[in-house]
Amino acid sequence: MTLDDIRIDDDELILVSPCILGIPTRWDGKSCLAEQLVALAAEGKLLPFCAEVAGGLSIPRGDASIQALDGERVLFREPSEVDGHDVLDGRARVVTSDEVDVTDEYVRGAQMGLELVKHHGIKTAVLKAFSPSCGSQKIYDGTFTLTLKPGQGVLAALLARNGVTVYSNEEPLPGTTVKDTNM
Ligand code: SF4
Repeated sequence: MTLDDIRIDDDELILVSPCILGIPTRWDGKSCLAEQLVALAAEGKLLPFCAEVAGGLSIPRGDASIQALDGERVLFREPSEVDGHDVLDGRARVVTSDEVDVTDEYVRGAQMGLELVKHHGIKTAVLKAFSPSCGSQKIYDGTFTLTLKPGQGVLAALLARNGVTVYSNEEPLPGTTVKDTNM
């Protein structure tokens, strides 16, 4: 199943990362446009939600990555296999490049996203690729070198655990133009 299989005549809403609709919620105050979402937006089917802003972080804010733990010590900038599931289970932290721990904000935002999804009966989300919140297939490896690894961000992991089908805006679609994947 691909993004093309999402039916715009369904009654249900689709949760979407606002930063891929051109709304500048990204950590660097920028955005991009996933053109495959334009038709769904025109139909009023999309519900934009940014977990990092909802969790209390500002725009702009520090770029963050999911970091492994050795006991209680954060293995800062060390490559690891941990992802949002490990954050939710207390086995990893989310830390900015200047070493500010923002795990609480990320988890709070993800929980708010889940509440929103449950309130509206949402079963599908289209989220920004590679983000430590929204990435659904690959995320950065914690080294802040733009190196990707398989894994999910905190919001994507929590939604997936609760039965939401999560798509990435990076999924290949005919006619798709992805203007910015660097996050
Ligand atoms: Fe917000 Fe997700 Fe976009 Fe980051 S990737 S700015 S958390 S919507």
